[in-house]
Amino acid sequence: MKKRIYLVEDELDICHMVRGLLETYGYDVATFQTGRDGRAAIRREAPDLLIVDLVLPDMNGLDLVREMWSDVRFGLIVLTGRTEVSDRVLGLELGADDYVIKPFEPRELVARVGAVLRRHDQLLSAARDADLSRATFGPWTFDVGNLTLTRDDGRVENLTAAEAALLLMFARAPNRVLSRERLQTDGDDADDFPYERSIDVRISRLRKKIEVDPRKPQLIKTVYGAGYVLAKDVTWSRAR
Ligand code: CA
Repeated sequence: MKKRIYLVEDELDICHMVRGLLETYGYDVATFQTGRDGRAAIRREAPDLLIVDLVLPDMNGLDLVREMWSDVRFGLIVLTGRTEVSDRVLGLELGADDYVIKPFEPRELVARVGAVLRRHDQLLSAARDADLSRATFGPWTFDVGNLTLTRDDGRVENLTAAEAALLLMFARAPNRVLSRERLQTDGDDADDFPYERSIDVRISRLRKKIEVDPRKPQLIKTVYGAGYVLAKDVTWSRAR
């Protein structure tokens, strides 16, 4: 089945370019020029992936992200100008999977779209697998199906879909060092774009949720020059 992608962007030439590009890769693409139209379309029928420009005529693209981050089950890529650095980071913190800086190379966008869709597919299929949908590591139990982390003292942390997809990769490869590139593309090495910032933001957000002291992480540790490792054994179990 074709993946459905919505693009919310007021610049028509970008809309035409992205639409033509992604359609040649077999995606079903719909474009919207205002945040309002984009939101209405999402409510009618959710896409597999949303690409949203941060500067829209009727709203800040971040407002659209903010409204949806808590229950998005679709991928989210933020389009930004080169100068909107703080907005870009905020977009990731609000739950976006990735960002693309304008002007961008077509193959960069295609690579990022593919990587985000792959991660979400893995998250959805893990959530459907009842025997393997809860991962316990250290004091935490990660419930893939409802994107929550529960600590042994009862504290619950909600994850964005992007954070959950990242944690899933760690939970499937405990005690193994995963490079930033691998975490971003999940093993697809067909591209060579700079991904580090996006991963680092998501890692730091995960740490704020699960580490006792995020500055001295004991669960997701940094391996300098190599990447990150989940330094705990993981036990998988059935969802309750
Ligand atoms: Ca714009």
